[in-house]
Amino acid sequence: MASESVKVVIRCRPMNQREQELHCQPVVTVDFARGQCFIQNPGAADEPPKQFTFDGAYYMDHFTEQIYNEIAYPLVEGVTEGYNGTIFAYGQTGSGKSFTMQGLPDPPSQRGIIPRAFEHIFESVQCAENTKFLVRASYLEIYNEDVRDLLGADTKRRLELREHPEKGVYVKGLSMHTVRSVAQCEHIMETGWKNRSVGFTLMNKDSSRSHSIFTISIEIYAVDERGKDHLRAGKLNLVDLAGSERQSKTGATGERLKEATKINLSLSALGNVISALVDGRCKHIPYRDSKLTRLLQDSLGGNTKTLMVACLSPADNNYDETLSTLRYANRAKNIKNKPHINEDPKDALLREYQDEIKKLKAILAQQMSPSNLSALLSNQGLLNPAQTEEKPLPPSVIQHDMEAEKQLIREEVDLDPEVAKEVALATEPGVGTEAEAQPLLAVTGSRRDCGTDSTMPVVDQQRVLARLQLLEQQVVGGEQAENRDLKEKHKRRKRYADERRKQLVAALQNEDEDSGDRVLLNVYDSIQEEVRAKSRLLEKMQRKLRAAEVEIKDLQSEFELERIDYLATIQRQERDFLLFQQLLEQVQPLIRRDCNYSNLEKIRRESCWDEDSGFWKIPKPLIMKTSLPVAHHNSPPGLGSPLNNNSAFLPTQAPETPQPRPFRL
Ligand code: ADP
Ligand code: MG
Repeated sequence: MASESVKVVIRCRPMNQREQELHCQPVVTVDFARGQCFIQNPGAADEPPKQFTFDGAYYMDHFTEQIYNEIAYPLVEGVTEGYNGTIFAYGQTGSGKSFTMQGLPDPPSQRGIIPRAFEHIFESVQCAENTKFLVRASYLEIYNEDVRDLLGADTKRRLELREHPEKGVYVKGLSMHTVRSVAQCEHIMETGWKNRSVGFTLMNKDSSRSHSIFTISIEIYAVDERGKDHLRAGKLNLVDLAGSERQSKTGATGERLKEATKINLSLSALGNVISALVDGRCKHIPYRDSKLTRLLQDSLGGNTKTLMVACLSPADNNYDETLSTLRYANRAKNIKNKPHINEDPKDALLREYQDEIKKLKAILAQQMSPSNLSALLSNQGLLNPAQTEEKPLPPSVIQHDMEAEKQLIREEVDLDPEVAKEVALATEPGVGTEAEAQPLLAVTGSRRDCGTDSTMPVVDQQRVLARLQLLEQQVVGGEQAENRDLKEKHKRRKRYADERRKQLVAALQNEDEDSGDRVLLNVYDSIQEEVRAKSRLLEKMQRKLRAAEVEIKDLQSEFELERIDYLATIQRQERDFLLFQQLLEQVQPLIRRDCNYSNLEKIRRESCWDEDSGFWKIPKPLIMKTSLPVAHHNSPPGLGSPLNNNSAFLPTQAPETPQPRPFRL
C-alpha cells in the first residue's frame, strides 16, 4: 500500500491591534513560490534567519479561499471518493486557527475551511452520476480531557471513548446528524460552535481553550457501467486545536491553570506521537496518552490523508511560540500515512437502509398490483439509481396526492404514538439523528411476520410508505447531474490544486540546481570560475553550519523550558495528591480500629484504572463502625477535631507539613 506524508502548510496572520499598539516588528517572512518560511530571532540580528520548507506557505494577504483551493481541495475530494481525511489547525492562541477553520462570512474569500468543505461535498454529490450519498455530521469538544457532544441533548455530559476492532476508536453516545444540504451543515456548525467552552486568558480573551472536532461521515453507494454496486465510506475530521502556548505565558491561575495544564498535556501527547512516528526506531506510539491522540490515531500514521495548518503570529514578541510552532509543523511533515479507500464497510448504515427498503418493498408488493407499486415507489425515488432509470413514472402517479397520504398517516398517528414520531419525521424533513431512523420492521415485525402476511390493512401500508419515505430522505444525490457549469467548475478546481503542487516542486528543484553535488562535479572553463563557484558553495555551507549550531542551542533551551514546565506540573499534582490523602485519612469509617490495617490500604490495592471511562474503579469500603461525630471545640489547633473515639488512628502531622483544618459539624 502506497504511503503519503502528512501535508503541512503555514499561515501567518496580519499584526493585530495589540501588536500594532506595542509597535511590534514582524519577524516572519514567506517565500510563497517555494512554500518557505523564514523567522528572524529579534534578540540576535546577526544570526541568519531560520528557514523551513512546507507544502505551502501563506502570508498576511492570502485568503482562506486560496489555501482551500490549493491544498485542502484534493483532501476533501478524496473523502467523497471513500478516503478518510483530517485537517487540523495548530498554533498559539490568537494565531488564526479558528479564523482558518471557521472563518468569517464576510468577505466570502475568508470563509473558513469547514463551511468550504460543506459546499465542496455537496458540489461533489451533485456532480456524481449514479451515486447516492448518506452524509452525517458530529461535533465534539475535548475540554479538560473530557469529551462532550456539542450537538447532544446534554452538552455537559462526559462521553467515553471506546475501541472497536474494525471501526477503531470512537466516542460512545456521540450524536450523528444526517445532513442533506449546505444550510443544514452550517446550522449544525453554528449550534455546536455556540456550545463550546470559552475561556478568557491574556493571550486572547475570545479564544476557546478546548479542542474541537467536527466530523463529516460520508457513505457512498455507486453503480458502475456493468450494473455492479459499490459501497464506500469516507470520514472528514476538521480539528480546531486549543492554543499551543506554554502555560507560563498565559497568566492563567486557578481553574484556568488547570485547563492550561491539561491542554498542554494533550498537545504534548500529540507532539510525542508525532516524534515517535518520525523517529524510525520507536516501536511504541503513545496514542493512549490523551483523548486527543486516541481520537486522531488514524490521522497520524494510519489510514487517513492528513493536512496540518500551522498558524503563526508575525510579531517579534511571539518569536519563541512561533518558532516552536514551526518546529512542531516541520516534524509533522515527516509522518507517513497509508490512506486507502474504505470499501464495503461492515457497519455501513446505507447497507442497512437498503436491506430495510428491500423488505419494505416486499411488504408493499404483496398488497398492490405491480404497476401501482412501481409507480408509487418511483414517485418516492429509489435507493438504487440504476433502477430509477429503468422504471419511468406513469404520469398519473406523479400527481400522487401527498396531502391525502399524510392525512391517512395522521389518522393512524392518533392510534399509535410510536408511529407518530416516525410519521412526523417522515413528513417533515429536517436534520435527523441516527436514532430517528430506527427500523420500522422491528415494530411491525413484533406484531406479525410482515414479509408473508397478505391481509395487511391499508393503515400499515401507509406506515410502510412513511418509513420508506423517511429512509429515502436520509440520502442525497443520484440525480443525473444536468448542471454542466457545476461539473466544469468541479473539474477546474481539481486541476488547479494539481498545478499548484507541480509549481511548488518545480520551484524547489530550481533551488537544488545550486546544490553541492552540481558545483563539485561541474567542469569549469577556467580555474577562476571554479574557485568562485566553490567559494560561494563554501560560504553557503558555512551559513548552514552556523544555522545548525544555533538550532541545537535553541532546541536545548526549549527542552529545558519544557522540563521546567513538566516539573512544575508534577509538583502541583503531588501537592494535590497530598491534600486528598490528608482529607481521606480524616474520614473515619475508612480506618479500622485494629490499628495496622486500614480500609484505605485495601482500597488502594484493589482499585484499578479504567482507561475507557478515565476513572478509577474502587471496591466498596468495609465500614466496621459508624458513630456520629462529636464537635470538639477545645482540641489543640492543627490536630483537627476528632470525629469520634477513633482519633488515636488519625495520622500525626510532621511539623513542617501544613496542618489540616478542624473538621466541625
Ligand atoms: P485562535 O483560534 O488561534 O485563537 P483566532 O482565529 O480567534 O485565533 O484569531 C484571532 C484574531 O485574529 C481574530 O480576531 C481573527 O479575526 C484575527 N485573524 C486571524 N487570522 C487572520 C487573518 N489571516 N487575517 C485577518 N485576521 C485574522
Ligand atoms: Mg480559536
